[in-house]
Amino acid sequence: MRDAQAFYRRSISDPDGFWGEQAQLIDWHVPPKQVLAQSNPPFRRWFVGGETNLCHNAVDRHLAERGEQPALIYLSTETGEERYYTFTELHREVNRCAAVLRSLGVDKGERVVIYMPMIAEAVISMLACARLGAVHSVVFGGFAAHNLALRIDDAKPCLLICADAGMRGGRAVPYKHLVDDAIAQAKCPPAHVLIVDRGLDPEMQWRHGRDVDYRDLREQFSDAQVPITWLESNEPSYILYTSGTTGKPKGIQRDVGGYAVALAASMKHIYNAQPGETMFTTSDIGWVVGHSYIVYGPLIHGMASIVYEGLPIRPDPGVWWKIVQDHQVSTMFSSPTAIRVLKKQDPAWLKKYDLSSLRYLFLAGEPLDEPTSRWITDGLGVPVLDHYWQTETGWAMLTLLPGIEHQPVKFGSPGFPAYGFNIKVVNELTGQECGAGEKGVLTVVPPLPPGCLSTVWGDDERYVNSYFGQFEHELLYFSSDWALRDADGYYFILGRSDDVINTAGHRLGTREIEEALQAHPALAEVAVVGVHDEVKGQVPVGFCVVKDPALIASAAGRAELEQSCIAKVTELLGPVAKPHRLHFVVALPKTRSGKLLRRSIQALAEGRETGDLSTLDDPNALEEIRRAVAQ
Ligand code: ATP
Ligand code: MG
Repeated sequence: MRDAQAFYRRSISDPDGFWGEQAQLIDWHVPPKQVLAQSNPPFRRWFVGGETNLCHNAVDRHLAERGEQPALIYLSTETGEERYYTFTELHREVNRCAAVLRSLGVDKGERVVIYMPMIAEAVISMLACARLGAVHSVVFGGFAAHNLALRIDDAKPCLLICADAGMRGGRAVPYKHLVDDAIAQAKCPPAHVLIVDRGLDPEMQWRHGRDVDYRDLREQFSDAQVPITWLESNEPSYILYTSGTTGKPKGIQRDVGGYAVALAASMKHIYNAQPGETMFTTSDIGWVVGHSYIVYGPLIHGMASIVYEGLPIRPDPGVWWKIVQDHQVSTMFSSPTAIRVLKKQDPAWLKKYDLSSLRYLFLAGEPLDEPTSRWITDGLGVPVLDHYWQTETGWAMLTLLPGIEHQPVKFGSPGFPAYGFNIKVVNELTGQECGAGEKGVLTVVPPLPPGCLSTVWGDDERYVNSYFGQFEHELLYFSSDWALRDADGYYFILGRSDDVINTAGHRLGTREIEEALQAHPALAEVAVVGVHDEVKGQVPVGFCVVKDPALIASAAGRAELEQSCIAKVTELLGPVAKPHRLHFVVALPKTRSGKLLRRSIQALAEGRETGDLSTLDDPNALEEIRRAVAQ
């Protein structure tokens, strides 16, 4: 076993040596001339002069050694379809798709918007773009037409790829219909729309001259070979928007070489996974977790990756674990939200299947509360590792490194800074570094390591101002998340720096109150927001989802539960943190990526308009909040 701390220290003190070595994990057409260039901070370039390609590293590179091994496993519990691609088959499909794209004018540097459900063609078209050196912008399927139009105008694509429809909970969700609406609103519409027609939407309209059928063209190019377009390491690979939890989503621009190296390294050191094994990431290709760990990471590492279309509880709450058993999954990656959904179900589902292939469950995306963490750890009997990251970073910033050294899990903590991230917790106003146990904002001393954003697409100024503009005296990457480091060096994320309640002169993080409420056995999920109060400035108000709705069937039951939940907060945090009110609801409004939309809840709780709802998942959940507040 190696020493994780020494590994980390070297990455900070000798980035050239460290990353120069990691760069050998991928194939280079032309090796880099310089590992790191920083002539214009906070911009930085990794592996300058090196030429490589994401598709080559994810697909072509493996043909010789593992051509017959599974690469992509597509499973849909919505349509019942299952498809398997070996690396050789995936290579053939990607070549066909790349030839189709090329025939529609896609070339190096051109943008392609991908608006697709979780089907194999979504991954294949991302890889085909990469092969051609084109820049993909995957827009999460199910976003409203207006949001799609904004992203179209931001990217100015020559092509948009979509499906006729997706399926969710047994119902077809039209995609193409929405694309027509979006294109009608867009100022820079694409010349062509390429449609993967699944036969799910009999009412789909074809626009003559603009819309093309993927199946027809794929036939035409069925034997095509499309050479790799080699890119300089710092050329753009893709655009991807943040979740929009705190405001207008930012179009993150990623590079090629740095990203490939960062992912290859993470598969080894963080996920401790072996080529030839299978990874199951339950996210969506529309999010960063999907880009990094459904598509590029596992494939670059020579693993099979599962693309799953379906919900975690259909046909029953054991469906994920059946997938783990049937496909011998070794590494699984999901989100706390999804685990909290499962936590409302019978825990016997966790024991029904043979999970002996599974080595780790990784979670990220939002705070992992301790009760949920314990519940899933006990239920699965494998290590459950929380790790913390952002769309901007592309891979984990705080994590344990099981691939380097076994480090014990501390419940509630995502671990230590990942190699390459020189993390500093600072006072959000002065920028002074905090001591152990002291709460501040998590920042990163530049340079950001490989894999992190190069800039905001088309807006260098926004990159500099929104991420590095917080302090006058020092350039620091500002994460906007509260954090602290304990005496043992473990880090804790304490919520977002804009989620603070200022009550009677005390500053309370919403996360702390949520954690306290979550310790109450009757509650499945909670959101706490600060609501304006004439006397105290702000008071905490909680919205809670109960595990058993019978508990709140009567007014007396609700009042009793409210009292016992408030008592729990008083017990754990003291009377200052006591929620002013608790409302009981059946669902909480979240972004499509599963994050609580606190700013919308807060707006409703204060009787204001909700603002930008472009990334809201379930409008009914918002209505629930409205109803609860009105009562
Ligand atoms: P926007 O930046 O548009 O407001 P967003 O920050 O929600 O949206 P993402 O990049 O998808 O968009 O999410 C990153 C954020 O998710 C982090 O900044 C942090 O707040 C939260 N997060 C991610 N992983 C964890 C984790 N393991 N523990 C706690 N919080 C996490
Ligand atoms: Mg963010």
